[in-house]
Amino acid sequence: MAKQQFQAESKRLLEMMINSIYTQKEIFLRELISNASDAIDKIYYRALTDDKLVFNKDDYFIKLKPDKASRTLTITDTGIGMTKDELENNLGVIAKSGSYAFKNENEIKDGHNIIGQFGVGFYSAFMVADVVTVTSRALGSDEAYKWESQGADGYTVEPCEKDAVGTEIILKIKENTEDEQYDEYLDEYRLKTIIKKYSDFIRYPIKMDITSS
Ligand code: ADP
Ligand code: MG
Repeated sequence: MAKQQFQAESKRLLEMMINSIYTQKEIFLRELISNASDAIDKIYYRALTDDKLVFNKDDYFIKLKPDKASRTLTITDTGIGMTKDELENNLGVIAKSGSYAFKNENEIKDGHNIIGQFGVGFYSAFMVADVVTVTSRALGSDEAYKWESQGADGYTVEPCEKDAVGTEIILKIKENTEDEQYDEYLDEYRLKTIIKKYSDFIRYPIKMDITSS
């Protein structure tokens, strides 16, 4: 008998991801920093087999920029970036992990540094943000694309400008409600505490840019 495949209702699945799988909202930062670290690791692995690519450790970092005035938290990395297809496939398909695929394709047996595998962590950003805007330019490409989503309703992708290879994620942090506080995710010290708690093992520098606007 032919086996039937399970279908998933993506909208409901995404709502469930956002609202039920994580007990603590603060872990969104761990997820986004892990993704940034994975993206840098991919350049590192590429450089091992590509003579034209030199991995100069000083060029690779993760940067957080909280901005209370605009209510945004921006997470920038100088990692491998995403093409238009990768933005659509890896951020537009729930449970699709480009990092898992990368580990397999490159037969990285000791790929212990690359953290991603389940393809869901990114969506935790919607626990704290109303809008998530991802601008990315892939290694070897001179085109950049902007992916934007307000959660379960879907996403848009359009061309944009970006000078450097890598990814920039802008979170429009939610307004406080009677039950939930979100302001803390714009506070430098609170962010530092979260980084210390979950991302202390990350091999690349995590910088903080606090020049306020
Ligand atoms: P996972 O990390 O488990 O693969 P995520 O939902 O966190 O799942 O991310 C999905 C995929 O999106 C990643 O596997 C990766 O291919 C891509 N991605 C996410 N963030 C970035 C980033 N900052 N730079 C490059 N690719 C990214
Ligand atoms: Mg991840």
